Amino acid sequence: MKKERTLAEPFRIKMIEPLRMTTVEYRKKALQKAGYNPFLLSSDDVYIDLLTDSGTSAMSDRQWSAMMLGDESYAGARSWEKLEAEVKDLTGMHYVLPAHQGRAAERILYSLLGGKDKVFISNTHFDTTRANIEFTGALAIDCMDENLLNAEAELPFKGNIDIEQARATVLKYGKENIGAVILTVTNNSSGGQPVSMENARQVKALCDEFGLLFVLDGCRIAENSYFIKHREGGLENLDYRTIAQQMLSLCDAFIMSAKKDGLVNMGGLLVLRQQKLAEKCTNLLIISEGFATYGGLSGRDMEAMAVGLREVFDPDYLHYRIKSTEYLGQHLHRKGVPLIRPYGGHAIYLDAGKFYDHIPVHQFPGQALVCDLYEQGGIRCVEVGSVMFGKYDEQRNHIPPKNELVRLAIPRRVYTQSHIDYVIDVFDDILEMKAQSRGLKIAYEPTFLRHFTARFDRI
Ligand SMILES: *Cc1c(COP(=O)(O)O)cnc(C)c1O
Repeated sequence: MKKERTLAEPFRIKMIEPLRMTTVEYRKKALQKAGYNPFLLSSDDVYIDLLTDSGTSAMSDRQWSAMMLGDESYAGARSWEKLEAEVKDLTGMHYVLPAHQGRAAERILYSLLGGKDKVFISNTHFDTTRANIEFTGALAIDCMDENLLNAEAELPFKGNIDIEQARATVLKYGKENIGAVILTVTNNSSGGQPVSMENARQVKALCDEFGLLFVLDGCRIAENSYFIKHREGGLENLDYRTIAQQMLSLCDAFIMSAKKDGLVNMGGLLVLRQQKLAEKCTNLLIISEGFATYGGLSGRDMEAMAVGLREVFDPDYLHYRIKSTEYLGQHLHRKGVPLIRPYGGHAIYLDAGKFYDHIPVHQFPGQALVCDLYEQGGIRCVEVGSVMFGKYDEQRNHIPPKNELVRLAIPRRVYTQSHIDYVIDVFDDILEMKAQSRGLKIAYEPTFLRHFTARFDRI
């Protein structure tokens, strides 16, 4: 059989950022100094940084040249008008509020909709979403189908909300107590898995039936549109942007961290259909973010975002984006590395509990794998398991979460295929040494969000 052609990058390099090459010996020392927590490493000591896809995109020549056109007027800037027009055209909604990132938009919207006795329903609340809701005293309830959480079930839309659970939750708490139904596309906290158009229509129908607000958290709506076009059936003749527009036509509010599919390093959006809610949000925006025509962003940031929101729907880009993530997943799968399938849009999730099954969960197999990948290859990634979500019972026994995962998130347009091939090669060494890998114990931990600053010792 003829070998398939390499899917080469649909861009070429015009400006380079040098990377420092280091040795295993050097990295072992650097990691020890960082308390075996890659969040505490200097980025100069990292060769391939797969910590997050957020704010790490490479901008295009068009975005950089648009930045030179930035109008930095306090009010009514040209750059704002450009962004507003682009977002109105994409979302079909009238009220566009700029914000410095996704969580700023969340804080504004959920502090108005939330409060004690309120309940929010979502496919999965992303951690900043949950934090902003719970901070108001409200309850955040995830409605995920158990089957979808099965790591190996080859289902096309594992990010979907379980509509029957959502309905039961509305009935249980009473429709007047529901703050909103939030559909996150793609579902970041469940492996970047997509949500179908059919599922979004069901959410709309549920919201219409009970008079609820439908919020779309669409940080990765372009990546989600790719999966809809190629997996759902019935929409294969539409372009990606039209698919996104169809989904956006169903919701009442749209929240976006532009650090993802906005293809910018900083920025966010809150977009609303209803005037009354928009006026209340605008008041809060002006108090905490900035005037309504910049919301904490410079004119040049808004220029770059306006261009990024258009570029992200380019079919060659999106095809490359999704296929290159899949490429990493397929090659690791072939080597026998256990991972979540099918592959999501922005990241590959390794099942470290299974891969390092000789390390007990209270010794953090995911963190051990994260440390080995850094020491052996200079690759930085993040544990999504007992370090991030583990809890203690009253006797301070460790209560593990359901899975011990490691996330390899792929920044947009940053690494070439040979970088990814290098990552795949490093796994040959990881596989060879895995029996010798040792777990970790916590040397220091803060009270909240310990994965960011905890320090460890090797056992
Ligand atoms: C990143 C993210 C956010 C928060 O956005 P920030 O720009 O990091 O504040 C909210 N929801 C989802 C689904 C995200 O992925």
